[in-house]
Amino acid sequence: MNLADADLRQQQAALLQRRISSEELVREHVLRIEQRADLGAFVHVDAQAALRAARAADERLAGDEPPPLCGLPLAHKDVFVTRDMPATAGSRMLQGYRSPFDATIVARLREAGAVCLGKTSMDEFAMGSSNENCAFGAVRNPWDAAAIPGGSSGGSAAAVAARLVPAATGSDTGGSIRQPAAMCGVTGIKPTYGLCSRFGMIAYASSLDQAGVIARSAWDCALVLGQMAGFDPRDSTSAQQPAQDYTARLDAPLPGADAQRPLAGLRIGLPRPWFADGLADEVERPLREALQQLQQLGARLLDIDLPRSQLAVAAYYILAPAEASSNLSRFDGVRYGHRAAQYHDLEEMYARSRAEGFGPEVKRRILIGTYVLSHGYYDAYYLQAQKVRRLIAQDFLAAFADCDLIAGPVAPTVAWNLGELPDPLANYLADVHTLPASLAGLPGLSLPVGFGSGAHARRPVGLQLVAPHFGEQRLLHAAHQLQRATDWHLRAPTD
Ligand code: GLN
Repeated sequence: MNLADADLRQQQAALLQRRISSEELVREHVLRIEQRADLGAFVHVDAQAALRAARAADERLAGDEPPPLCGLPLAHKDVFVTRDMPATAGSRMLQGYRSPFDATIVARLREAGAVCLGKTSMDEFAMGSSNENCAFGAVRNPWDAAAIPGGSSGGSAAAVAARLVPAATGSDTGGSIRQPAAMCGVTGIKPTYGLCSRFGMIAYASSLDQAGVIARSAWDCALVLGQMAGFDPRDSTSAQQPAQDYTARLDAPLPGADAQRPLAGLRIGLPRPWFADGLADEVERPLREALQQLQQLGARLLDIDLPRSQLAVAAYYILAPAEASSNLSRFDGVRYGHRAAQYHDLEEMYARSRAEGFGPEVKRRILIGTYVLSHGYYDAYYLQAQKVRRLIAQDFLAAFADCDLIAGPVAPTVAWNLGELPDPLANYLADVHTLPASLAGLPGLSLPVGFGSGAHARRPVGLQLVAPHFGEQRLLHAAHQLQRATDWHLRAPTD
């Protein structure tokens, strides 16, 4: 097997056993990135810098105790600032911007020895569900060139699915890791809000934004997450959680369970509203099969109620634009961002710079956000949405009294065609299954469990698992055990 087709765990073993050098591995991945430029997964690649970093990693691999990710290739979503590469957040507003510092997670992964190959495409400022809102062009789904890859971390998901990198970072505000992972047939985890530092992650909606990982398997996600997570004094919402090795207990059965039924004792709740009308049959079928497999592994399935999760779309699309309108005010052509060439006075400079720099979806969100925060509407919209958010979180807490994990769809359909959903509301509605966990700050994971049918036979379907706050270990364990028993995560678009 070409080691660039191997997952992160196998690549790590091969590097440690010196069966391959980091330089060879990185060279192979760079070649693939060039060969699959048609996918549009990357907005920036620095092959020379990556090869230099790989050679340095090879020296450390020859010494004692190389760091955990030493020599492993990865990519960062372009929402994370990097001192040696541009960071655009998919926007013309930031074209050519270079940060004087690294985002905390970028710095941590660098210290852990990972070699960054480049930056991946994304919806502008992480606003979108299809990656079509990127100012630098859409991304194609490696499984089916007519399909969107999902969004907003569509570049990261497509890059991992096409084997251009074994893992990539992402950010998830309302589903942007889980949904593209599902649509590209890869595994993605959005941790608990606050587990990974937001320092240096270009802000969209700060009370929801969370960094995470997209990789081929739950084990690989666990490996990278362990190096990203942990308290950061430079992020005021960073959680006081000790760093941990999320891979340590993944192979073992749950306490009291055995190798045949490693998930014995695990109670998995299925929210009734998530399986109601609106869920495509071709999505429900593979989901039900995966749930049966979880049952065979010992898990107990029970129906639960999340009565207010259906309000998540309405609440999120008030709260996220409200926060975005505030966060994006810094892009004024003075403090940050593109400045118009022609203007007569200060006001016109602001207006033109923002008109030229932002794309249509970003402008729409800024308008909505400014409106719902304005005097007279704040109480009617913003405050109401905050209350609904709290009720949704309470529903989850009540549900977790009866179950250990919640399972359901990631999205109501498989990936749609590029250009198929020009209506923004239709895009917003497609987030119905990822938004509830985001509003509650809960960790969520998506893993591939099959494909659609008929004309969609090459469009992957993902299963979403949600855990209580800081339940990443439980989430990754269940996903890993399911992946040990199935092979969906091993399929490649080139098979
Ligand atoms: N699709 C959602 C939005 O457009 C979520 C995006 C995200 O998680 N960054 O806001």
